[in-house]
Amino acid sequence: MQARRYAIWALLLVLLLVAVLPLPDFWITQLNYIGLYSLVCLGLVLLTGVAGLTSFGQAAFVGIGAYGTAWLTLNTGLSPWLTLPICLGLTAICALLLALLTLRMSGHYLPLATIAWGLSLYYLMGNIDALGKYDGLMGIRGLSLFGWDIGQGRGFFALSWALVVLVALALVHLLDSRAGRAMRSLRNGTLMAEAMGVPTLRYKIIIFLIAALLAALSGWLFAHFQRTVNPSPFGLKMGIEYLFMTVVGGVGYVWGALTGALLTKLLEDQLQVLLPRLIGTSGSFEVIVFGIVLVLMLKYLPDGLWSFVEKRLPRPPRKVDWAGAAALPERSKPAHGECVLEVQAIRKKFGGLLAVNDISFRIDAGQIVGLIGPNGAGKSTTFNLISGVLALTAGDVLFRGQSIAGLRSRAIAARGMSRTFQHVKMIPDMTVLENVALGAHLRGRKGVLAAMARLNRSEEQQLLREAQRQLERIGMGAHLHELAGNLAMGPQRLMEIARALCSDPALLLLDEPAAGLRHQEKKALADVLRQLRAQGMSILLVEHDMSLVMDVCDHLVVMEFGTLLTEGHPAQVRQSPLVRAAYLGTEH
Ligand code: ADP
Ligand code: MG
Repeated sequence: MQARRYAIWALLLVLLLVAVLPLPDFWITQLNYIGLYSLVCLGLVLLTGVAGLTSFGQAAFVGIGAYGTAWLTLNTGLSPWLTLPICLGLTAICALLLALLTLRMSGHYLPLATIAWGLSLYYLMGNIDALGKYDGLMGIRGLSLFGWDIGQGRGFFALSWALVVLVALALVHLLDSRAGRAMRSLRNGTLMAEAMGVPTLRYKIIIFLIAALLAALSGWLFAHFQRTVNPSPFGLKMGIEYLFMTVVGGVGYVWGALTGALLTKLLEDQLQVLLPRLIGTSGSFEVIVFGIVLVLMLKYLPDGLWSFVEKRLPRPPRKVDWAGAAALPERSKPAHGECVLEVQAIRKKFGGLLAVNDISFRIDAGQIVGLIGPNGAGKSTTFNLISGVLALTAGDVLFRGQSIAGLRSRAIAARGMSRTFQHVKMIPDMTVLENVALGAHLRGRKGVLAAMARLNRSEEQQLLREAQRQLERIGMGAHLHELAGNLAMGPQRLMEIARALCSDPALLLLDEPAAGLRHQEKKALADVLRQLRAQGMSILLVEHDMSLVMDVCDHLVVMEFGTLLTEGHPAQVRQSPLVRAAYLGTEH
């Protein structure tokens, strides 16, 4: 995903060469189509590659843009430059409605829904009299700017590719920002993102809108370039082809969109000439070749062609330009010894199973409280009830004196409770620093447009400075620019703690932070926890590992079969025959 800013210079150079070299018109025309495809594919990178939302229906949005401007310019005489905002507005309304209807769907339902709207819009376009039915609309005028004809050839080339470059650059900027990190966190479910305070549905809708608007922009250009529109380029087949191009190019990379559009179009042209000659009869044989290519690609190069380039490009360490940034404001913290969390007789029923039965305990500021118990005792469930991932069946949870029962995890995070996960949840293709900066999401304001226009620099510097500070705080300062996916288990867990700390929490919830760690890593973790406590942090530690818990906790809460077995000082608990029986009974 690493955005290569210098790829843009290479691209600009190539584009400039194309513009000045005496290339035949045929090639300019082909490049114009590639530019149009690229715009749609750029949207798909964001939608499918970044957010994990697969769409076969982008061609329909291209159609809205194309038919919109075709009908308007032919029937109202409006200038194409005026129809552009109208077409984009129309697309935004359609996309918003579709997003609200479909984006809550999970699994296969979303792709199926995109197929459904792709099909229905195609038949709609083909059956409306005003849109010329399947014959479409003809005689659309070309584009001109200040009397300069940019409807065809090099003029259109300059316009379309300027837009491609601008959009690509905007996306590169977006992905390297607060909003971009939030978007990149959507692919692996919403649990972690919501816990970091990211409004996931809102971001999905924004992404969906951006992708639809890029498709509509492509359609608007297409209509004025072709001068005619009919339904076939906007049908499901083309929707599948856009996805095909993007996947072949590299759906996770901005430059993958351009690579895919370019190579697919060139290959298609060559095959259309070559294959009938080879086989001896005419027909759409290229479709068969494409099918085979796609299957091979998915098997051997699932990240697309650009990933091949990406891996071979040098990875210069990121320039640290945030060292002098202002510190982010911090929330007021509870005074030492003040009650931070009060769990009052909470209960959780899963059908007939009472997983958590009237559990009560409290955590005071500056304390590490351990929640222990054998497997299946209800520790994780308790943890999820407190952090808002699960809804309480009964009871109440007071955080800093106020009830947080019924609040969603995002709202609880905003109040200053931050957590880690029993199974590490991170974005493997982001650096450690970026992963940790996601934890500071709620401490920033700048949104998508500011990021695209690079108007977010000072806030970005503040967020990255904070991320670096938290990583250094837990001894991870040497790993800032490593890809998170390359870390060993121990550092991964520490990274999650740094991410949680980045939200400036008043209470830190850790779910089995020692799981899967080696002896040395456990000792390092214990040191980190003690150091955090020394700095005034309050921690709830859910843990299976008795030695760690005995080592660092001030107070232990022991659960068994969903109920409270005992609680007290670790030394006391260690002596308890009840606890010994519970542990001996299940562990040995
Ligand atoms: P622990 O974290 O202490 O190992 P859990 O809180 O994960 O225990 O589980 C407590 C009990 O609740 C177990 O019997 C488990 O099978 C059950 N349980 C946990 N989550 C669910 C769920 N989502 N649906 C049904 N049962 C669950
Ligand atoms: Mg558990």
